[in-house]
Amino acid sequence: MNAPSSPRSAAVIGSGFGGLALAMRLQAAGIQTTVFESRDQAGGRAYVYRDQGFTFDAGPTVITDPSALEELFALSGRRLSDYVELLPVAPFYRLCWEDGMHVDYANDQAALDAQIRAISPPDVDGYQRFLAYSRAVFEEGYLKLGTVPFLQFRNMVSAGPALMRLQAWRSVYSIVSSFIQNERLRQVFSFHSLLVGGNPFETSSIYALIHALEREWGVWFPRGGTGALVQGMVRCFEDMGGTVKLSTPVERIDVADGRVTGVTARGVHHPADAVASNADVLHTYEALLGHVARGREESRRLRRKRFSMSLFVVHFGLSRPQPQLRHHTVCFGNRYRELIQEIFHGAEVPADFSLYLHAPCATDPSLAPPGCSSHYVLAPVPHLGNAPVDWSVQGPQLRDRIFDYLERHYIPDLRATLVTCRIFTPADFRSELNAHLGSAFSLEPILTQSAWFRPHNRDAVLPNMYIVGAGTHPGAGVPGVVGSAKATAGLMLEALA
Ligand SMILES: Cc1cc2nc3c(=O)[nH]c(=O)nc-3n(C[C@H](O)[C@H](O)[C@H](O)COP(=O)(O)OP(=O)(O)OC[C@H]3O[C@@H](n4cnc5c(N)ncnc54)[C@H](O)[C@@H]3O)c2cc1C
Repeated sequence: MNAPSSPRSAAVIGSGFGGLALAMRLQAAGIQTTVFESRDQAGGRAYVYRDQGFTFDAGPTVITDPSALEELFALSGRRLSDYVELLPVAPFYRLCWEDGMHVDYANDQAALDAQIRAISPPDVDGYQRFLAYSRAVFEEGYLKLGTVPFLQFRNMVSAGPALMRLQAWRSVYSIVSSFIQNERLRQVFSFHSLLVGGNPFETSSIYALIHALEREWGVWFPRGGTGALVQGMVRCFEDMGGTVKLSTPVERIDVADGRVTGVTARGVHHPADAVASNADVLHTYEALLGHVARGREESRRLRRKRFSMSLFVVHFGLSRPQPQLRHHTVCFGNRYRELIQEIFHGAEVPADFSLYLHAPCATDPSLAPPGCSSHYVLAPVPHLGNAPVDWSVQGPQLRDRIFDYLERHYIPDLRATLVTCRIFTPADFRSELNAHLGSAFSLEPILTQSAWFRPHNRDAVLPNMYIVGAGTHPGAGVPGVVGSAKATAGLMLEALA
């Protein structure tokens, strides 16, 4: 009688949304999967801070495409709703300007039309044409190509006609401007690419698909915060028999005879039939594979790429609720194009800012003690390669400027009710997450760094080495990295079968 063959195994480095989604897919297919995470909690950029009864999600808060998340749980016959409850967010965002004008961007067409008409009557029609464009890109770029690994240049060539038809060489802002005349409405419909690290004036118009994606499935927030979704994914993975090793940084990806053989963490070799890295791509090739020629060659190539901007984040808890705030507020400053150019190309922290303000208690009051509210506010800032500033000095100064601004425009009693506060700077992205240049979103999503031009889901030389997460196709954002997990899992399961 033949001895039963031992199950195939995989190591996943990093427990961001991409790493966890891949681990769930592999484990559901019977691959014995271990996730190695250097921090003390799973989630990567979706880390959670807790202080004095306040819960602060560190990263993603706008959860879109719940169907992609549901699919992960369904792979093992489970349901997302058994692990976490997704609450609808309405409006999706409130977009505000300094003179007090605001637009509530919601999935209610009549309400949206009325607001557009009040600002610029001709743009009601223009918006409809933009929405049709956004839906066309969404079909092509997200539904058809978002989970397909671009390993060969011919994959890019076959996508070419559609990219040409959709004018993918144009920027998001340029496309939006071709439909919409009013400058503020152009901001409303072009800022979305910033959510995945893209400059609306330079990133491909393909990223206009985010608008249609939100309209298609809505904007959601997990009860208990984004961290509750991460915990739901971890529990589901462990219920399937998978293992998560926290506080276990991988030091090296082991290689022998042209194949990876596993990972070394805390000095111990963990064998695996395949390895996927969800860690920063440059960290993966330079620090973890730098002991072999392939790692050194690929890291030299990656160092020449453009990386996305960074973020400056302040988490703060207040002793009062803030009913005037919606769950998601985008606070536009007076400058748009010029400010964004400084964020992506400037050598200093800009003097002004546009902000995203998170007020999750609007949807789920359990994130703060009774009668209190938890928040974060973020400002996009240049990465450390462009602006090598001393954040231990500039961080507290920027926090104070942002608090002054919020007191003036949004939360008058901010300092008077402040209970707790912490900051997260580009230097923290680098030291806590191994993010190259402290980038918040990995490689910048420009056309020449997208699809085939992005690091591939499978390494070109080491046949059982894979990449998952923001640094590979399709890119950053929760739907992007969950899509990357599908693309990477398809390749891994084909090879491990
Ligand atoms: C402040 C902020 C707000 C955001 N808001 C949104 C939003 O609202 N909606 C949205 O869709 N997207 C948002 N994003 C983008 C989104 O969060 C990210 O693109 C996505 O979560 C990245 O996931 P990932 O799979 O690439 O892994 P990451 O989250 O980057 O995780 C990588 C993991 O690898 C670990 N790691 C690194 N090196 C090692 C090592 N050597 N050994 C072991 N582990 C290692 C890290 O500790 C980390 O846990 C936001 C991002 C930020 C920073």
